[in-house]
Amino acid sequence: MYDVIIIGAGVVGAHIARALSRYRLRILLLDKATDVGDGTTKANTAIVHAGYDAKPGSNKARLNVAGNALFEQVCGELDVEFDRCGTYVVGVSEEDRATLEDLYRRGRQNGIRGLSLVGGPEMRSREPGITESVTGALFAATGGLVDPFALCYAAAENAVGNGAELLLETEVQGFLREDDAVVGVRTNRGEFRSRWTVISAGVHADDLMRAAGLDGFTITPRKGEYFVLDRAARAQVRNVLFPCPTPVSKGILVTPTIHGNVMLGPTATDIDDKENLSTTPEGLNEVLTGALKLIPGLESRQIIRSFTGLRASGSTGDFMIDAPKERPGLLILAGIESPGLTASPAIALEVVEMLREAGLELQERAEYVPLRRGIPRFSQLSPAEQEALIARDPRYGRIICRCETVTEGEVVAACHGAIPARTYDALKRRTRVGTGRCQGGFDLPLVLEIMARELGLSPLEITQKGGASNIVVRRTKEVAE
Ligand SMILES: Cc1cc2nc3c(=O)[nH]c(=O)nc-3n(C[C@H](O)[C@H](O)[C@H](O)COP(=O)(O)OP(=O)(O)OC[C@H]3O[C@@H](n4cnc5c(N)ncnc54)[C@H](O)[C@@H]3O)c2cc1C
Repeated sequence: MYDVIIIGAGVVGAHIARALSRYRLRILLLDKATDVGDGTTKANTAIVHAGYDAKPGSNKARLNVAGNALFEQVCGELDVEFDRCGTYVVGVSEEDRATLEDLYRRGRQNGIRGLSLVGGPEMRSREPGITESVTGALFAATGGLVDPFALCYAAAENAVGNGAELLLETEVQGFLREDDAVVGVRTNRGEFRSRWTVISAGVHADDLMRAAGLDGFTITPRKGEYFVLDRAARAQVRNVLFPCPTPVSKGILVTPTIHGNVMLGPTATDIDDKENLSTTPEGLNEVLTGALKLIPGLESRQIIRSFTGLRASGSTGDFMIDAPKERPGLLILAGIESPGLTASPAIALEVVEMLREAGLELQERAEYVPLRRGIPRFSQLSPAEQEALIARDPRYGRIICRCETVTEGEVVAACHGAIPARTYDALKRRTRVGTGRCQGGFDLPLVLEIMARELGLSPLEITQKGGASNIVVRRTKEVAE
């Protein structure tokens, strides 16, 4: 019997588990995927939004601003990289000037500090590669960059360290009911009973609501396609640059990533299939065309990767956070599209307060530890620190991924972490192995060998992302001998 079951180990579910793990509660965080953060959390623009574009008075506006303010504390406690570098919305016409002023006013209404309007010439000096058409920009000093997966993983790991249970590859297929009340979940691994069940299932939240007998709220997956550029492109892009927004999206932006690459995108196309993560020639063409409108000098030969993320676009246009009276025991988070990553730490605190108000007894645990430390990042250490690390464990002296300078020591540590990397993608996201210019071309055989050794598997059993995504499909006679 759990006190709280959280369905979905994305960045929102992970923060809820962490926030609840401060109290004497039995918590179960479950996800149908092979790793945490495998839904929308792993595929988005990774910006900690300032909060100027959400409608004043909406949940999105309130939780964006509250979440943004928590990032230094949360990332400090969880050992997650965060850069409050500020963000720009760039205008390229007289009409855009009016849009920038609207955004400025809206931001002030939402209570944001650090907003300023910048003239065209000033913007050109701050971003030398920017289009000559620039007429001005809105600068939001509180905007920033983060690694969304690291944030999710770190929050989940900290929750587990504080006693929460995590079950992966566990899909909720229905709810246990006693009259109107929800008293647990039915999954592919059996039934789990709980006093409270929190739906935090991204694009699938409405499917689960229907399974609980609640209609009326629908989620449309809205596809966003991206390009990732090699680190070399960073020389051409100094800042986070949004174009002026459209009614459905913030537009195709050009942004550095926290790891020093450049990212272009996303598109915004409504689709029917919640599993469709394909990229399309039309979508990617739109990404490049849009990005070149901001930085005309970008070179397509710098592209090293494309990917798609799905926004959980809700029918009300706002985040839905509700404990419906007709289903006691159920708390629903739905339509958590952008700025959901930014809002996630604040959403978690709000959920805790809602559960407290609904009668869940919250007694603080004296042994709660808010701090969590990640595995050492060899490439970020000073030469002296690197030497000390190698002296302690020589596996840190063996570089496995040349593009990103990732060592065998880091790969081994990720295989044995609190939430072990059991797939190649899980390892990539924890260590950055295979994310550079060669995209795993050089390191993959070495990584498979180490993963197989550390996880006690055959290289044939290592998958990219679980299921039938095996990387090596058979051993040739020669190799076997
Ligand atoms: C293109 C794009 C750009 C974005 N850019 C930004 C940005 O720059 N800044 C920002 O703040 N936000 C951004 N967002 C929004 C942000 O990414 C999301 O709001 C956030 O990741 C949502 O997290 P989540 O935990 O709610 O959902 P998810 O990460 O999708 O997690 C839901 C989890 O539920 C699991 N699940 C689903 N159904 C079941 C089931 N039946 N049983 C068990 N598990 C289940 C899934 O496997 C998944 O892991 C963007 C989103 C997109 C798509």
